[in-house]
Amino acid sequence: MNLILLGAPGSGKGTQALRLSKEFNIPHISTGDIFREAVLTGTDLGKKAKVFMDKGKLVPDEIVVGIVKERLEKLDAKDGFLLDGFPRTILQAFALKDELAKLDKKLKAVIDIEVGEQELIGRMTGRRVCVDCKKVYHLIFEPPENQDYCDACSGRLIQREDDKIDTVRNRLVIYTEQTKPLIDYYKKEGVLHSINGEQDVENVFKDIITAIKGEYE
Ligand code: ADP
Ligand code: ADP
Ligand code: ZN
Repeated sequence: MNLILLGAPGSGKGTQALRLSKEFNIPHISTGDIFREAVLTGTDLGKKAKVFMDKGKLVPDEIVVGIVKERLEKLDAKDGFLLDGFPRTILQAFALKDELAKLDKKLKAVIDIEVGEQELIGRMTGRRVCVDCKKVYHLIFEPPENQDYCDACSGRLIQREDDKIDTVRNRLVIYTEQTKPLIDYYKKEGVLHSINGEQDVENVFKDIITAIKGEYE
């Protein structure tokens, strides 16, 4: 089962991806997570990516595409994968299409999680992340017991640099200009499912499952 989670920054892709990857037993491939890990460990990739990420800009296509291709060729993606945050430009979508053809794989579904702009801003600015186990919270919608520490591992909770309001606005502009056109692209490919993302986490998950299962029949 090969799936893509599309959706604006803050729409709930990461939250749903964790559940979907368990449900279908497929690896969760998040380009954002890959870049954040590279920034933390200070690799060359991390140094390059950080410059773009901090400004809320997209990392250049040629860097992202190479990483995703390598990742899709790993053994654990043999029977399925869940892409979260990739593709984000038409060029990335074309590169993915070529790679899937090369690996003789087909996309099962592209899930677009729809959330309005005001809600997106609230979700991003209220997001907090554990520095140790990377668990994601929200100050209002998914609050930790203590605002500063992770319930799961007691690690420190931080706000992502790019979740501060000014960068959030840039990310939304870039989303509209560069990523939104993918909705039409995948509609034409006949694989798109639009999901109402302004429901609680459980109901968004249920709707995604229903959309994917519909594909079986
Ligand atoms: P993305 O990966 O698309 O940027 P996340 O999954 O990290 O989004 O979610 C963004 C923020 O919104 C997080 O703080 C998360 O806890 C919260 N969140 C996710 N889904 C929902 C939802 N359905 N309702 C309310 N808050 C949500
Ligand atoms: P979001 O919450 O915006 O969905 P992500 O964790 O997916 O955040 O991405 C964080 C940042 O990593 C992006 O703002 C961008 O700089 C970079 N990034 C992630 N995926 C891609 C991609 N497919 N193409 C280019 N840049 C990416
Ligand atoms: Zn933690």
